[in-house]
Amino acid sequence: MLSSGWGPTPYPCCVGHEIVGKAVRVGKEVKNIKVGDRVGVGAQAQSCLECVDCKNGNMTYCKKAVNTYGSIYPNQKDKSYGGYSNYNRTHGAFVVKIPEKIESADAAPMLCGGVTVYSPLVRNGCGPGKTVGIVGVGGLGHFGVLFAKALGADRVVGISRKNDKRDDVLKLGADKYIATGEDKDWAAENARTLDLIICTVSSEKMPMTEYLSLLKVGGTFIQVGAPDGGNLPPINAFTLIANGIKVGGSLIGTPQEIEEMLQLAADKGIKPWIEVRPMKEANQAIIDFEKGLPRYRFVLEN
Ligand code: ZN
Repeated sequence: MLSSGWGPTPYPCCVGHEIVGKAVRVGKEVKNIKVGDRVGVGAQAQSCLECVDCKNGNMTYCKKAVNTYGSIYPNQKDKSYGGYSNYNRTHGAFVVKIPEKIESADAAPMLCGGVTVYSPLVRNGCGPGKTVGIVGVGGLGHFGVLFAKALGADRVVGISRKNDKRDDVLKLGADKYIATGEDKDWAAENARTLDLIICTVSSEKMPMTEYLSLLKVGGTFIQVGAPDGGNLPPINAFTLIANGIKVGGSLIGTPQEIEEMLQLAADKGIKPWIEVRPMKEANQAIIDFEKGLPRYRFVLEN
């Protein structure tokens, strides 16, 4: 978004969109939040709440959705500037309460990074009896491993390029780790072992055919990583046809899914791996993020 990788960004742009704070003012129509509540806001600030998608619990996909940052409100004038700020105003329907058991710094990165993998895991049947692969173990992928385990998947496989994350990923709870850049014959050795893959990698050069070969017949591959320009590697029709597999996508998650996810995290004691930094380091944090340094999410504290 900062570099207009997803289309033209309406600059100036300030990107914070995993916001935790205290409700200091609440509109009179808002029923779910009281002044003083500890609350969170994710990547979405608004939707129409009237269309068929909003009514069916798919407000994430509303054609009139407004993002928490880098978006223009329906009056075509005002812009959203995210949460690197003292105050944030968001529609009550997109504000959730943070359960007492979860610390603010732990809750924040779940509000976008967490729910972006939680939603497709749940919507695609992650649970007992399933073997789930998480491609790319970074900010999103480390949540993928944590939540797939917490949802009761039989086996969770972390898949990344290099071996340097192997110990971390096994510590996060994965049953197995595949380093696609270093393990010999990884695709053949693990062929048809996974029911579901969530792909957090956003690269046009990722080994897509090999990833898809890991799916069992009937398996599902869900893309959540969003590369600049949007291009994925080409997929040969026979890769789909000859294996009977499905390829889909998923965008963040609804406020209801955020609440369910936070409750799961509270019930199971899920602790994300984060590094807390002062808000004034926001610019340096972006540079460090680009270098792949976070293990696994930076949280900026105001
Ligand atoms: Zn709508």
